[in-house]
Amino acid sequence: MALVSLRELVTDASRRGYAVGSFNVVNMDTLQAILQAAEENGSPVILSVAEGHFHFVDLDEFSPVILKAAEKARVPVAVHLDHGQTFPAIVKALRSGFTSVMFDGSLLSLEENITRTREITRMAHAVGVSVEAELGHVTGGEGDASPGVADPSLYTDPKEAAIFVQKTEVDALAVAVGTVHGIYKGKPELDIPRLARIREATQVPLVLHGGSGLSDADFQAAIANGIAKINVYTDMSQRAMQKIRSVDTLPQETGFPEFMCLVKEAMQEAVTEKMQIFGSVGKATGFGS
Ligand SMILES: [Zn+2]
Repeated sequence: MALVSLRELVTDASRRGYAVGSFNVVNMDTLQAILQAAEENGSPVILSVAEGHFHFVDLDEFSPVILKAAEKARVPVAVHLDHGQTFPAIVKALRSGFTSVMFDGSLLSLEENITRTREITRMAHAVGVSVEAELGHVTGGEGDASPGVADPSLYTDPKEAAIFVQKTEVDALAVAVGTVHGIYKGKPELDIPRLARIREATQVPLVLHGGSGLSDADFQAAIANGIAKINVYTDMSQRAMQKIRSVDTLPQETGFPEFMCLVKEAMQEAVTEKMQIFGSVGKATGFGS
């Protein structure tokens, strides 16, 4: 068990028809909440650190802690750089021992995105690290507080996706098919036929970013049409905030570490619910076989 690459995780997920949740680590409490949920549910999991969260998570200090926890876990775990936007961040993650990196060149031209992603895959694959890239653009920032809507003009084009995957040799591809990062304003509508065409054209495990506001049925339709990794942050963060807002209802003598355990439990519940929806519960058993 323990530390595996993203490629191993998404290959198993694609083969057995589920999706692996990728949850953002922003501190020790999130790390423990995610791993506890994964172990209790026998679920493979991805611990991801976003480049945009480097001000919360100093990789030099914290990646040894994350990697140690991943190695000790009784379930398969990948340690992943989420939304790497700069070359130094990618190199730093590789050097820190991450087993997977995402390069997000989704705001670049197709040609430039291919060139830069290709550079990353050559480097990462040479040291056994998987690469996720993004084509089309999922709007909204990581942990963005302002609600947004998806922009169909930025959706992933299946023909471009085929060229992109063939030229870059990425292990997983994040697609834009109707979600946004952060909170969705109104109700998101997934473009499932487009997703099916992308899968058909690329034959690579696909990744869904920005799942907030989707129904269980939406997630299941996405998984049935090629999504093998789903990123979760907003739901977990919101659940922690709900608990924090309830602090006045607790007995006066509640101490800080006791209170933080309650916050952790709330996040753990949010992670568990996602694992149940994604179908990853129990999949540590028989993994990769
Ligand atoms: Zn994202």
